[in-house]
Amino acid sequence: MSENRSIWILIINKLQKLIFTDKQIKEIKKLFSKSKNIVIVTHSYPDGDAMGASLGLYNLLKKINFNISIITPTNYPEFLKWLPGDEFVIKFSKNPEQALECLNNAEIIFCIDFNALSRIDKLEEHLSKSDAVKIMIDHHPYPEKFVDYSFSSISVSSAAELVYEFIQKIAYSKHIDKDIATCLYTGIMADTGSFSFNSSNPQTFRIVAELLTHNINKDEITGRIYNNFSSDRMRLLGHCLNNMKVFPEYNTAFITINYEEKKKFNFKTGDSEGFVNYPLSIKGIVFSAFFIDKKDHVKISFRSKGKFEVNKFAMENFNGGGHINAAAGKSELSMEETINKFIDLLPKYKDELF
Ligand code: 5GP
Ligand code: MN
Repeated sequence: MSENRSIWILIINKLQKLIFTDKQIKEIKKLFSKSKNIVIVTHSYPDGDAMGASLGLYNLLKKINFNISIITPTNYPEFLKWLPGDEFVIKFSKNPEQALECLNNAEIIFCIDFNALSRIDKLEEHLSKSDAVKIMIDHHPYPEKFVDYSFSSISVSSAAELVYEFIQKIAYSKHIDKDIATCLYTGIMADTGSFSFNSSNPQTFRIVAELLTHNINKDEITGRIYNNFSSDRMRLLGHCLNNMKVFPEYNTAFITINYEEKKKFNFKTGDSEGFVNYPLSIKGIVFSAFFIDKKDHVKISFRSKGKFEVNKFAMENFNGGGHINAAAGKSELSMEETINKFIDLLPKYKDELF
C-alpha cells in the first residue's frame, strides 16, 4: 500500500470517530431510556444493504424490548425475503393503514440507507409530518436536513457497517447474536459486491471478522443472495447482454428492458438486480447504464469504474444522485427518447470518460 493511501485510511478512521460524538450518543441513550415506540424506515425498492442494515437494527432493538416496527415504502426482491425478521416488515404500498399507525405512534424514527426524502416516495409526507425524533444512519453524499441526528459518512462500505458502529457506540454490542450478525453481514456483502468495491478500509473487514464470530453461515448467505434466481431471470440476462449497446469511443455501454421484454420473461421485482454491473466487465468500459421501464417513468441505473462521477451525471441530467461509482435517476420521456437523450449526452462528457 502506498504511503498516501495509508495516510488517507488514517484520516478516514479519524473522521469516522467524529461521526458519533459523545454528546449525541449520550442524548440518544437518554432518549432510549424514556421511549418505547420506535420505527425503522428504509428507502423504496430496498436492496440488500437497506434490508440488512434495517433488520439488523430491528432485531437488536426488539431484543431489548422496544416496541419496534420496520416499514419499507415498497416491496423488494424475493431473494431478500429470508433475512431474520423479514416476516415483520410492513410494506407501506401494501398495508398503508398499518404503516401509518406505527408512524403516528412513533417516538423515534430511524432513517436507514437514505438521506433524501424523495427516496421514500409516498411515505415522504407522512414522515415529514411526524414529530418523532428522527435519526439518520446513512452513507450517501449530500444528506438533506430532515432529521434530528445524522450519522452519515461516505467513507464506510454500507449503511449496515454504520449500524454496526452505532450499536457499538451505544454499548449494545453484547446483544449482537447470529440473526443480527447475519443481517449486518448481508448488508455489507451486498453493498460491496461481495467485497470487490467500497471495501478498502480495514475497519470494514474488522467488523466482518467480528460478525463471523457469531457463527453466521457465510456461504449460505452468498448462495441465498446470488444463486437464488429463476430461469426466466437468467434468460432475461442473456437476452439483455445480447442486445447491449457498446460505444467504444466513449468507453460506455448500456442495456435496456422494456415492457414487452418484462412480460416475455415473466419479470419480477429484483430480477434485474446487478444487470448494470455487467458492461463494466468489458475491457476499457468505464461507464455503464441500465434503463428499465417502470409504471410512469424510465428508471436508469449508472455505474462506473475509476474517476467518472455517475452521481454528478445522474444529478445533472436525470433528476437523480447516489455515489461516485453507483447512482440512479429517472426520466419521464419514453424509453426511446430517454435512450436518445443519453446517447446525445456522451460527447459532452467525452473528456471525463477514460
Ligand atoms: P440502483 O441503481 O442500485 O437502484 O441505485 C444506485 C444508487 O443510486 C443507490 O445506492 C442510491 O445511492 C442512488 N439512487 C437510486 N435511486 C435514486 C434516486 O431516485 N434518487 C437519488 N438521488 N439517488 C438514487
Ligand atoms: Mn447502502
